[in-house]
Amino acid sequence: MIKKLLLGLLGLLLALAVALGVNTWRQGSRQVAVPPAPPLPLDLDAAAGRLAGALRLRTVSSLENPTGSAAAFDALHAYLAQHYPRAHAALQREVVGQQALLYTWKGRDAAAPAIVVMAHQDVVPIAPGTEKAWSVDPFAGEVKDGFIWGRGALDNKGNLFAQMEAVEALLASGFQPARTIYFAMGADEEVSGLRGAVPITELLQSRGVKLDWVLDEGLLVLDGVLPGLSKPAALIGVAEKGYATFFLSLDTAPGHSSMPPQHSAIGQMSAALARLEATPMSGGIRGVARDMFGTLAPEMSGLNRFMLTNLWLTAPLVQGQLEKSPSSNAMLRTTTALTIVRAGNKDNVLPGRAEAAVNFRVLPGDTLAGVEAHLRRALGNDAIQVKAYPGNSEPSPISPTAHAGYRHIERAVREVFPDAVVAPGLMTAATDSRHFTTLSPAVYRFSPIRVSGEDLARFHGTNERLPVAAYGDMIRFYLQILRASAQPS
Ligand SMILES: [Zn+2]
Repeated sequence: MIKKLLLGLLGLLLALAVALGVNTWRQGSRQVAVPPAPPLPLDLDAAAGRLAGALRLRTVSSLENPTGSAAAFDALHAYLAQHYPRAHAALQREVVGQQALLYTWKGRDAAAPAIVVMAHQDVVPIAPGTEKAWSVDPFAGEVKDGFIWGRGALDNKGNLFAQMEAVEALLASGFQPARTIYFAMGADEEVSGLRGAVPITELLQSRGVKLDWVLDEGLLVLDGVLPGLSKPAALIGVAEKGYATFFLSLDTAPGHSSMPPQHSAIGQMSAALARLEATPMSGGIRGVARDMFGTLAPEMSGLNRFMLTNLWLTAPLVQGQLEKSPSSNAMLRTTTALTIVRAGNKDNVLPGRAEAAVNFRVLPGDTLAGVEAHLRRALGNDAIQVKAYPGNSEPSPISPTAHAGYRHIERAVREVFPDAVVAPGLMTAATDSRHFTTLSPAVYRFSPIRVSGEDLARFHGTNERLPVAAYGDMIRFYLQILRASAQPS
């Protein structure tokens, strides 16, 4: 009897193993097969020189001093007009808000829904104290050793100028789009977009413009970054996380430190923060993360492929692994980060007030209200006042992958980066495109820049630089996508 049972069990296990194996190898590649894009139809060194020249203009945006860099933005506008004469003759250019630019490339078919291609003109400042760590002057705009060096090369003048190069080259070849293409170029992306992207969306809305889809900066072509994947991964951001900061304060009676109460303001706040950090919001391999792994799995080999293909069985194990790394953990859940604590100013005085700030990055599917409820529950102390930061924003909706916009991006990636595999991804940082989700359900965040893991620190960091060859691929990407998507789908 027992022998029979054991044999039966063994049979079941074998059947399961066979089913898992078959399931793993049956899932073929989902990558589209396309011919490679033609070589660049322009002088790449001259184009690199034009981008480098723009990096000399210090278009640093600031929340506190919105007009501080006005002269640099004016100079950038003049620089664009000077170097891209065909674009400035054929496209309508409007200055929106204070320094944002909206270019309209009118299509022959006025009734066809338009598309929007985005980039931003502003850059982040150099973090004080890190100037000396740069091997070049960050605002000298140098082309050296095969790289274009300087603040903004990667984020985001590279995208902006690659788009301009593509438009100029298309116009030179006599190209005219069938449908209208807008270029929306914010000037305060790094500090909210409220003075750039937002008034542009309001302007388009007031004109009753119908949008098919939107492409903004975003995820990258990651070379050797994703464990288990030997090919570069081109991730198209189909959603971005929300942003939620809460300020906490706790008032108690101040007093002499010779006769302290059992629980001081500092003690209570610390205990509450420790509880909060020990209670992460629930996560899982769902939504965008599941789509991403499902698309990448067939491109992997061995155990990784097996585990990611059979998530219905392996999810708990895989999730445990992903949670160990901060970057992959951030794809699975709303993250909690304790960012400020403040209390006390004298060693023998009990402070009457303890303050803290907590920053959450909200996963699509979660809400600001849900995060606040979780926060209050986890703090477990009703004496702590909770106040939401006014700039908090909900996560974006998830854009469809079964959409012409996604397919155009996917195709252009495969044409320019034939060895890369394309998959949907989740943007954990914010972009100006979040303001466009009211105008179109199909907003995609992708920068056609091939980077290694080491390069990621150059975004907003030290020694920001773009390989000249990579810039050529960026221009080719925009050429392909503009040419193809100018035809309404
Ligand atoms: Zn950016």
